[in-house]
Amino acid sequence: MQFPYRSEFEHEEPYGAPQLAVDVRLNTNENPYPPSALVREAMERAAGEALRDLNRYPDRDFAELRKKISAYLAQESGVAPSPNQIWAANGSNEIMAQLLTAFAGPGRKVMTFVPSYSMYSEYARNTFSQFVAGARGDDFRLDLARAQADIERERPAIIFLASPNNPTGTALDFQELRAILHIAAQVEPQGAPGARSLVVVDEAYAEFRREGVPSALELLEEYPHLVVTRTMSKAFAAAGLRLGYAVADPRLIVQLNVVRLPYHLSSLTQAVACAALDHAADLQANVAQLRADRDALVDELRNRGFEVLQSDANFICFGRFSDRHREWERVLAQGVLIRETGPAEFLRVTVGTTPENRAFLDALGYRC
Ligand code: PMP
Repeated sequence: MQFPYRSEFEHEEPYGAPQLAVDVRLNTNENPYPPSALVREAMERAAGEALRDLNRYPDRDFAELRKKISAYLAQESGVAPSPNQIWAANGSNEIMAQLLTAFAGPGRKVMTFVPSYSMYSEYARNTFSQFVAGARGDDFRLDLARAQADIERERPAIIFLASPNNPTGTALDFQELRAILHIAAQVEPQGAPGARSLVVVDEAYAEFRREGVPSALELLEEYPHLVVTRTMSKAFAAAGLRLGYAVADPRLIVQLNVVRLPYHLSSLTQAVACAALDHAADLQANVAQLRADRDALVDELRNRGFEVLQSDANFICFGRFSDRHREWERVLAQGVLIRETGPAEFLRVTVGTTPENRAFLDALGYRC
């Protein structure tokens, strides 16, 4: 029997990096340090309390969580959005899917500049939006003149900019971001007469940026068509929690609310996320260490003859390999899983614990 599967999904594969049982897993940009005993206890207490009311649906508007995200951002980036500027969902992946449901769809375009996070094209496919891949410069940074021409020609409803970018690791230049926001503010998206293009800055790795690199959150007051997304999957060491959030104009949050599923954030997720935010400093205690280890790893890879892209994230994109698949397999054979992604001749490695980084370097060897 044939199922009425949509032709758009025919021959498509589900997204996902290999989940292999090897000793050293440096392929999905997780934080290698699990929550401390103190934070685990706080989370267990919060989850225990939520369980008492498990017969009830959760708070649909996750009021407590919004307040705590606002307080966290005030401390992390100096910008304190009001709770009605905040949205949360099961990972920033879900938020982006909701953004496309609300603002893209049939007859509209979604654009990014590749290489970038490969899920953007999948959200577009799933919402029957047209995906447009603009090109970057030779150094994989944004090429502003080209980006402007692409945006003005394509007139996308949504422009995704990951900063720091995945898979390259490089943060977006702030002046360039301002320039893109100005350009987008002049563009009437195809299929949305009278509207303006949205710019979504995906800051999944923001906490790993180096000192002095500002967050796009600082521009929210000035640009109502800006959306900033973040996640607790990386710096917060809580990838298993599935909690992402967005900050934007309150009117846009009201519109997003329309397309969410009923009670999309479980009471357990809300309770544990609140406990995590109460212990943000503890959970992120290793971020400084990861930054220092990243910089040391970049130096060491360069010393060994590899080309390494600048990283403001917890991963590093390095090359070049005429046959990167063979290289990936060679490293895997020694018990270290990295990721075969990024520009054609590059591989990506997540910064792990200090011994994991050492195991990776031992497996990789030198560039001959
Ligand atoms: N954006 C980028 C750039 C990412 O790399 C990831 C995760 N790999 C995400 C968003 C999604 O993260 P999550 O759904 O876990 O919040």
